[in-house]
Amino acid sequence: MSDLRDLYQDVILDHSKRPRNFHKIEGGSCAHGHNPLCGDQLTVYVILDGDVVADVAFEGSGCAISTAAASMMTQVLKGKTREEVDALFETYHDVVTGKRDGEECMDELGKLAVFSGVSEFPVRVKCASLAWHTMKAALDETADTVSTE
Ligand code: ZN
Repeated sequence: MSDLRDLYQDVILDHSKRPRNFHKIEGGSCAHGHNPLCGDQLTVYVILDGDVVADVAFEGSGCAISTAAASMMTQVLKGKTREEVDALFETYHDVVTGKRDGEECMDELGKLAVFSGVSEFPVRVKCASLAWHTMKAALDETADTVSTE
């Protein structure tokens, strides 16, 4: 696990300082997410082309983990079908909650596997999954606002 842990620090730092796809997208769907426990707030914008994520971006403010998680999520989702997004979210969630081992899920998760480091800090799980819950709400248009509480 030590390699993943080192990588975890690097990746969180890098993406929280320079978040990718950090902007608004007009003309798609969006949802707002809030994690009252930590104070993380973000808005996720999604554009679907049929069943495929054509574009995804986010804005907001929060702790390093929530920002890095959102940033990395936007990098991996483009071009994926809704089914692939659901499968990825499920594996990601299993890894951040410690149900599955990050190393074992490297094939499925790629860089996202570094978030297995979060499983050691249960209060951070919500920070790491906020962007994903919010993205799901935007995709399904189930709710304008998602709260982790
Ligand atoms: Zn947070």
